[in-house]
Amino acid sequence: MPLKHQGYFFDMDGILFDSMPWHAEAWEEVMKRHHLDFTARDCYLNEGRTGYDVIHEAITKRNASSERTISKEEIDAIYAEKCAAFQRYGKAAPIKNVACVLQYIHRFNKQIWIVTGSGQQSLFDELDNYFPNIFKRECMITAFDVTKGKPDAEPYLKAWERSGLPKEACCVIENAPLGILSAKRAGLYTIGVNTGILSKDDLLNAGADQVFNDMNELLTFLK
Ligand code: CA
Repeated sequence: MPLKHQGYFFDMDGILFDSMPWHAEAWEEVMKRHHLDFTARDCYLNEGRTGYDVIHEAITKRNASSERTISKEEIDAIYAEKCAAFQRYGKAAPIKNVACVLQYIHRFNKQIWIVTGSGQQSLFDELDNYFPNIFKRECMITAFDVTKGKPDAEPYLKAWERSGLPKEACCVIENAPLGILSAKRAGLYTIGVNTGILSKDDLLNAGADQVFNDMNELLTFLK
């Protein structure tokens, strides 16, 4: 029988949007401006965490030898710069064939959620353009809804609680090790789709139950 799960929880960057290369560029640019040590590779390794957590860690490292403390306002300001830089890099296209996956699940009236550490309004604004009638605001957990981002279980636990479904009826679609870790900590079945620069083993080692190379392979599996 197709689609054995009742709820499908999609990560956003690297799953819905091919946005990771732009995120990497934007992070590098802004972190450099603030004399924070952060490379494109760090961006991929940290993928899934909230911007706040990423900046907080980088500043803590930079200030380790001083008494200087960090205000929330300082971190928010840097994240705002990062969001602005990301927007300047242009529009992120959808991940190839993810629209087919979403339409297929939607056709069977299953729940479709977004669970993301992102607070990138420019991407939220594109959801309806690229994936019309698929997503509802009440079925989204974003950076604005959680106190602890991925790899903590909170984002996926929150989505699961709000879905009202039993855990065994839920399926997560993730591309990043920390996102997979978050979903597995929440006790959910997790499929990795390897859309970035990491290896298949990176996703399996993070605990993914299945890993596919692209959305076509995922669609074949779901059918
Ligand atoms: Ca992701």
